[in-house]
Amino acid sequence: MIPITEYAGRDVAVYGLGRTGLSAAKALAAGGARVHAWDDGETARLKAEAEGVNVSDINKRDWQKFAALVLSPGIPYRFPQPHRLVRMAEMMNVPVVGDMELFARAVQALPAKGRPKIVGITGTNGKSTTTALIGHILKEAGRDVRVGGNIGKGVLDMAPLNANAIYVLELSSYQLDLVESLRCDVAVFLNISPDHLDRHGGMEGYVEAKKRIFANQRIRDVAVVGIDDPHSQAIAMGRQRPGDARVVQISSEFGLARGVSAVDGHLYDSTGGQAIRVGNLAEAPALPGRHNYQNAAAAYATCSALGVAPGRIMAAIRTFPGLAHRMELVGEIDGVRFINDSKATNAQAAEQALKTYPKVHWIAGGVPKAEGIAPLEPWFDRIEQAYLIGESEADFAKTLKGKAKAVSCGTLEAATQAAFDAAKASSDANPIVLLSPACASFDQFKDFEARGDAFREIVQRLAASVEPQKEAV
Ligand code: ADP
Repeated sequence: MIPITEYAGRDVAVYGLGRTGLSAAKALAAGGARVHAWDDGETARLKAEAEGVNVSDINKRDWQKFAALVLSPGIPYRFPQPHRLVRMAEMMNVPVVGDMELFARAVQALPAKGRPKIVGITGTNGKSTTTALIGHILKEAGRDVRVGGNIGKGVLDMAPLNANAIYVLELSSYQLDLVESLRCDVAVFLNISPDHLDRHGGMEGYVEAKKRIFANQRIRDVAVVGIDDPHSQAIAMGRQRPGDARVVQISSEFGLARGVSAVDGHLYDSTGGQAIRVGNLAEAPALPGRHNYQNAAAAYATCSALGVAPGRIMAAIRTFPGLAHRMELVGEIDGVRFINDSKATNAQAAEQALKTYPKVHWIAGGVPKAEGIAPLEPWFDRIEQAYLIGESEADFAKTLKGKAKAVSCGTLEAATQAAFDAAKASSDANPIVLLSPACASFDQFKDFEARGDAFREIVQRLAASVEPQKEAV
């Protein structure tokens, strides 16, 4: 844990007791603050109490005594409208901060020589993969690396600050909204497309939140920026004023004259003005598809900026084990491969999976994003059949009508069974059943992890039911 001493002897309100709220409450208490933690949900409150956090109803406290309100990133800060307690804090002149800001200030408070290095990663898609990949490469290179933020551990749950360590942090736009003081030695901006617009008051607000990752960077710092979408391209172009951090452009679409590119599956480093071929990304089994080439290019540029040699980076890219729920192979039954891409909660993410395979039995649906699956139309010819589940069933069936075969299945269980039956009966040599829902999961599951775990279990049950029949033959 990283104790936060900034509020020692003072009263701090913590609102929202999910993973990050809990870790903030504990870190503040460990640093000597009087913590008043609250969540509207009783389960969360009981859990916090069981873990030794002082739970007290901040709605009933005197707000004049609070030195800060620590807000969990799950709670609306500005849009669609500020949460009631955010308004209350503002009325009472109580500063609103997030766990990442507490971390950033603790780092800034250290003497310059004692400061660890910080790598921040943001983007609409690919953050977790890139964060984990950078962590893996640095670990393989023998660095003292700690990975956290929006992935795995909450940032204040990480091991205490150490000057020789590198903190690799996944930063969501919600977290960036609540950050003022974070300075990234390397800031990675992967890509941007419409997502979570309601929480940021539209595209402009979303881009602005994400751009905060570059705030406080200095001339010797590095900004790794993807240029494969128009917004990111504009951001890369806009960051070339005197005094700005050095920009390293990355692309999985174009061969760059200066930057890091993945072209036809090969990684090239032309940051020195001359293109050096670093390696073949087809040798990295956990990073299939062009979108993962973008992630690999970003991780390469980052680790190279931190002084890791190209050969070492490439060797570690090859051995990256991958992350669960991101195009994860969860089973193979009778030649049918089952891919769990439950993390694909929007059309852009699902598009990457559809692009990767020439033909798929596609399980999709849940709570749709505003654009639904209409943006996926260029890839509809890759769909052998779609197996629709959840709230979006009728809507997606309408979009697919006359363009791709689709059946309504209701549940993930029924969809997986139907997809398996059809895939097995097809003439395709290596059929793929792909769960890449293009939707949030909340209508049927707690979160995307629970959805992916359910898919894995269904596949395991299917495998078990197929095995005995084989033995009986
Ligand atoms: P995030 O943490 O930003 O949500 P993940 O690494 O967890 O990103 O990947 C989420 C989904 O996005 C995966 O389903 C994957 O198919 C897709 N994806 C991963 N990397 C990229 C990328 N660079 N560009 C577009 N989509 C991507």
